[in-house]
Amino acid sequence: MSRVAAGVREGVPGSPGSAVGPIWTLPASVLAPVERSGATVDEAIAALATAAAQLTELAATRSAAGAGEEGEIFSMQSAMAQDTALATAVREAAKGGADGVAALIAAGEAQAALLASLPDEYLAARAADIRDVASRAARILAGTTIPLPGRQVILVADDLPPSVSAEIPREHLIGIALRAGSRTAHAVILARAAGIPCIVAARDLEVDGSLDGVEAILDGAAGTLKLAPSSGDLASVTAAQQKGAADSARRAGLRGRPVVLKSGSRVHLYANIGSAEDAARAVAVGADGVGLLRSEFLLLDREAPPDEREQTRAFTKIFEVLGSDRPLTLRLADIGGDKEIPYLRLPHEANPFLGVRGYRLAMIKDRPDLRALFASQVAAALRAAAATSGVLRIMAPMISVRAEVDDLLALVAAVRADLTGRGETDAAAYPAAIGIMIEVPAAALTVADLATGLDFVSIGTNDLTQYAMAADRINPALVALQDAAAPGVVALLRAVAEGAAKGGVEVGVCGELAGTVAGAQLLTGIGIYELSMDPAAIDEVREGLLGA
Ligand code: PEP
Ligand code: MG
Repeated sequence: MSRVAAGVREGVPGSPGSAVGPIWTLPASVLAPVERSGATVDEAIAALATAAAQLTELAATRSAAGAGEEGEIFSMQSAMAQDTALATAVREAAKGGADGVAALIAAGEAQAALLASLPDEYLAARAADIRDVASRAARILAGTTIPLPGRQVILVADDLPPSVSAEIPREHLIGIALRAGSRTAHAVILARAAGIPCIVAARDLEVDGSLDGVEAILDGAAGTLKLAPSSGDLASVTAAQQKGAADSARRAGLRGRPVVLKSGSRVHLYANIGSAEDAARAVAVGADGVGLLRSEFLLLDREAPPDEREQTRAFTKIFEVLGSDRPLTLRLADIGGDKEIPYLRLPHEANPFLGVRGYRLAMIKDRPDLRALFASQVAAALRAAAATSGVLRIMAPMISVRAEVDDLLALVAAVRADLTGRGETDAAAYPAAIGIMIEVPAAALTVADLATGLDFVSIGTNDLTQYAMAADRINPALVALQDAAAPGVVALLRAVAEGAAKGGVEVGVCGELAGTVAGAQLLTGIGIYELSMDPAAIDEVREGLLGA
């Protein structure tokens, strides 16, 4: 008699949401077809070219369907398939006697091993992509097809390469549980984009097919796969899903409704974003604009800083999504603290959160390259806004004293002068509101003085709380102190609201506090009406404020 699989397989949350259904295991042979085909090395190289063409087409169809992030993954994979390094590795493997299929798999493994050995989590995750490219070509050569499930399933696998997930019909894939993978694996990015719950790094997960057909509950937020759930478990998941669906539908019906409080004050709900895809999500939920673009997204996961042109392209894309009536608040690079960027070669600091971070980096005397990076961000923002008639707000992070505000104003003026010198007169003269983040208690207490020359301030309650409470924001032992609604922090928030009124600047909040109904009510109660939050929080906060 076969053992009935039961219990919980613990993994790491990948994509939120829950799914209930039978398990279907992706056969290992799909990932690496092993049978000898007798194919030649030239046929293997030709299969790589076919794979590249398929991937280019997949990139185009996914991008045209509005799934830009997926499109980018497939075009990167197409480039990998065309890379001569992979073809050379195939020829090398064939010299050792491997046939075409085996040579492709061996070459993919060899190139993947090079990437996997890198200490960088993002680059290591790209190892899976190159392996995927090689096995796609091997499948083409061996004539292997993926035995697709014909019904809705929770997919279990060691790993799920992007090209395989692209071939599985979405309507059949209700959840994904992987033994391997990481939070930054492409399977996770794709699952999130498609709204499919997913867990990764479930080390005890059986991927040998022994779970096939077993009913399970996948909880993407908790990172668990519960096998053979009881009827009580099923009832509570179903009830939670029904309530979640009803809440979402009711809240979606409120989109487009301006939030006006009983006092008559209008509240603007802005989004915190880190990419053009996020901007699209923000527009979809009826955000009034973007209150925080974390521009670090352009600086991470690479080996050199982006140039002004690349940044202009990226910002232009975001302005195009937002249109010319939703403001884009572009925060200059907030590097340091917990955001490390190795290629910038910043010295090691004993207390990085109290170190040279945020706008402080623009003012280091012997680092003109860092000042140039900030200047290139401002220039790119002005050029992108001018090209799209966008509403631009430029914001500097981690400001403590007046001298830093003066420096910011001088930097923007210098960039405008430089653009004029380059003949880019439209960008040079394009209007931009200038503001600062209030994240340091010293700044919170002196907003009226800092306000001169500025148009707005935006409170970063995440950092303001950590500095006010002397509680490291990433230390799980200090959860009780990481409270942006603690009386000491609220006193600072009030001081900022008063200082902003005195100084004649707009005031908003872009820390996590704004993204909860209770936090939003607290903030509007002290006279702060610009709230910026994760796009996923906007519907709930809108509903919570309407009628308040
Ligand atoms: C904040 O500190 O509240 C903030 C919005 O900035 P970040 O979380 O990016 O540091
Ligand atoms: Mg911050």
